[in-house]
Amino acid sequence: MSSSDTTRDPFLELIEAYALGALDADERASVEAHLAVGCSECAQALDQACWLVSQLAYLAPEAQPSDTLRGRLLKTVHAEAAANSADERSSQQHIPFWMWGAVAAVVLFALYNFREAQSLDEARRQIQAALDEQVELQKKSAQELALARREALILADPKSIKIAMPAGKTGLPELHATWHAAFGIVISGEKLPVPTGNRTLQLWLIPKTAGAKPIPSVNIRPESDGKFHLLIQEPPDKQSDTKLLAITEEPDGGSQQPTTTPIWVGSVGGK
Ligand SMILES: [Zn+2]
Repeated sequence: MSSSDTTRDPFLELIEAYALGALDADERASVEAHLAVGCSECAQALDQACWLVSQLAYLAPEAQPSDTLRGRLLKTVHAEAAANSADERSSQQHIPFWMWGAVAAVVLFALYNFREAQSLDEARRQIQAALDEQVELQKKSAQELALARREALILADPKSIKIAMPAGKTGLPELHATWHAAFGIVISGEKLPVPTGNRTLQLWLIPKTAGAKPIPSVNIRPESDGKFHLLIQEPPDKQSDTKLLAITEEPDGGSQQPTTTPIWVGSVGGK
């Protein structure tokens, strides 16, 4: 259908909020259903909204963007889109819808973490790295895409609990955990020292019940560049029953009981 003059597509109003991850579940589902039937007008609007999202990411205001800021950004974005439209249309790629969710998640994560960033440059660097990471993810297998989508949901959903995991030893970076009661836990950090030999870092869930033993979870070594990234799809205990997350260094393959003092600990009590 091409009835652009007679009626305005009601879904157009929702596209920007959708790209920002700001819709509730019902609205999101209806927008996705609408996009799935191939509305070109909305697909184009989504393309532009992606620009808005990336502009927001680069500006990363300290608080939620005001309506005025949003309006200004939209003008900029529309102007840029118009200027580049011919160029963009020819090179337009097919990007799966989960990608927008992932980008929105990156932006929300960036806004959340911005107050802790050392400087605007540092915030920009983190955001760029996170966006680059999302672009890389796009190139991987279907299973990896599903995992990335899950991770995006965990990071974007306001129902997730943010858990800061400071290091007990000086000179080590803080890790950041995000726990969604249904979808799992994402833990990440940068510039971690790589454990010696084959030793690995293992996650433990410390139950609220007094005297209960730490419950072993997955183990993983940081990458050689010091990046640490962990998605636990099915944590071994419920969020509501867990008091702390802890990470210890263990022999290759992990342990049934912690054999060293936790290096990182975070309270699930959170916000
Ligand atoms: Zn439409």
